[in-house]
Amino acid sequence: MNNLTNRSIIVSNKKMTFWERIYLPAILKGMTITFGHLFRRKSTVQYPEVKREFSEIYRGKHVLKRDDEGRERCTACGLCAVACPAEAITMVAAERKPGEENLYREEKYAVVYEINMLRCIFCGDCEEACPKEAIFLTKEIVRSEYGREKFIYGKDELVEPADPAGRIDVSKRQTPEVLEFKKNKKFRHNR
Ligand code: SF4
Ligand code: SF4
Repeated sequence: MNNLTNRSIIVSNKKMTFWERIYLPAILKGMTITFGHLFRRKSTVQYPEVKREFSEIYRGKHVLKRDDEGRERCTACGLCAVACPAEAITMVAAERKPGEENLYREEKYAVVYEINMLRCIFCGDCEEACPKEAIFLTKEIVRSEYGREKFIYGKDELVEPADPAGRIDVSKRQTPEVLEFKKNKKFRHNR
């Protein structure tokens, strides 16, 4: 028999004291701890009535951005989908027709763009891969739903409003390098 077994036999043979047998000190100690917690600052919030303030660079629900003229920036190049480790992004590309120049920034655009929020791990790789600054993660969290199909967000959920007042500010997510890149007019999509 090893030392550990010998020790456990000794412990189990140890007689309980009077106070240990009546359990009162242990109960009082437990109650003191419980009441002590009543007066401490709570670390939980009553969601959804109360919402926590997230960091400006929190990685939540995505937004598909428009340019200053309200045109969709996404050109359906597919780089975000390739970069996505969860294979959460799917899209269908289409050619822009004459007269649609005010809707889509370039000749190609995503007629379908979907993100499966159940697959997404909010890593931000899609944002990093995008050469057009078309997709960003925001501090908005994905809603709870009862059906799995409701977690597949299409363009109706992802593209930001055309109204300038409803645009989503992503400036906090743009690094100085990205902002410098945007100023460079030698790249066609910065013109
Ligand atoms: S955040 Fe990550 S997992 Fe989610 S869609 Fe983008 S690349 Fe995929
Ligand atoms: S979001 Fe960006 S990377 Fe993804 S398809 Fe559109 S332009 Fe390409």
